[in-house]
Amino acid sequence: MKKVISVSMGEMVLKGLNRGYFEDRLIKQMIRSIKDIGYEKIYKEAGKIYVEADPVDYPDIINRLKKVFGLVYISPCIRVNKEFDDINRAAILAMKEARERTNVRTFKVETSRSDKSYPLKSPEISRKVGGLILRNFQDVKVDVHNPDVYLYVDIKDNAYVYTERIKTHGGLPAGTGGKGLLLLSGGIDSPVAGFIMAKRGLTINAVHYHSYPFTSERAEEKVKDLAETLARYTGKIKFFSVNLLEIQKEINSKCPEREMTILSRRFMMRIAERIASDNKYHALITGESLGQVASQTVQGIAVTNNAVKLPVFRPLIGMDKVDIVRIAEDIETYDISIRPFEDCCTVFLPKHPVTKPRVEDIVKSEEALDVDSLVENAVKNMKVYTIE
Ligand code: ATP
Ligand code: MG
Repeated sequence: MKKVISVSMGEMVLKGLNRGYFEDRLIKQMIRSIKDIGYEKIYKEAGKIYVEADPVDYPDIINRLKKVFGLVYISPCIRVNKEFDDINRAAILAMKEARERTNVRTFKVETSRSDKSYPLKSPEISRKVGGLILRNFQDVKVDVHNPDVYLYVDIKDNAYVYTERIKTHGGLPAGTGGKGLLLLSGGIDSPVAGFIMAKRGLTINAVHYHSYPFTSERAEEKVKDLAETLARYTGKIKFFSVNLLEIQKEINSKCPEREMTILSRRFMMRIAERIASDNKYHALITGESLGQVASQTVQGIAVTNNAVKLPVFRPLIGMDKVDIVRIAEDIETYDISIRPFEDCCTVFLPKHPVTKPRVEDIVKSEEALDVDSLVENAVKNMKVYTIE
């Protein structure tokens, strides 16, 4: 009898011939997330991945694994060989432990048998194990519809008995979906946007624009803290820090005041695209949400988008603020985002920004600027960090 942690893979089951690749990436991410805690072994068995480790470390390991994309649930299990007596002993122990954890008045046994040569069929196993539990725990009853606990029995090369399915984020393993560059502000939205895209397997890197010395170094620290929190899910993040002040001054002195925000936004997109192409990233990601602020009207987004050719992912586009906040709280970026530091966009905030800009007008205003050399200079002076 040995305790192990099992990990169930979600959508990856659908990946057909690519499945091996997805599983390998997933195992790599699992190792990355728990190697400093320490484990004995990770192995695959009939569609699940198992971790052998010191049970003392289980809470820490499970917490880390919860942040790995590509898993749907995690279960601490008891592993035994397939002798039915051993399965029975494991079932009694699992039930004892479940009763220490929560109040168990009703239960249901659920058997899954991937070893089709096993002499007992799944319903028979469930029935026999159920009978055994009833004989050993006089105060519990069977409830097949809404039990307090499920007692799971998986018959594979070994047998695994467990009562917990800890839900995780799902998604696809990091690094299986290309590379993206997240425009990361200090706000609530962009970290959530990065999280959602990372969950689909996109490798995340980040670019942040500041207006130092108009904005403080502490404002930049805050954004690095956000990137660090994201990195717990995504693995290490390359972080580009770009000073936008020269560009903002140029726009401020040469273009209509009400176009300030939209014009700076287009520069942000251009610089991001330039960094993406230098680093072979495939897409940009922003935290825009339709109608949320003056620059996020459909016209504003169209004009912003028009500055670049690369695909721009806006996973929050149709989401309400309350739902975005809920995710931000869940992934622990919210408390960092609400720290009161100034953002570069507020430095030259127009009193009456255009809400329905037209591409022709904006392109015309940009004629007063030397766009290429402004972008060139900003990129030349940027700082690059690696966030772990
Ligand atoms: P957020 O909460 O992400 O700051 P927001 O609701 O404040 O978003 P805007 O300020 O209009 O919205 O920004 C829209 C998007 O543009 C952001 O989600 C982010 O992707 C990008 N962005 C804005 N400011 C910056 C910045 N200083 N650095 C990098 N990206 C930025
Ligand atoms: Mg913002």
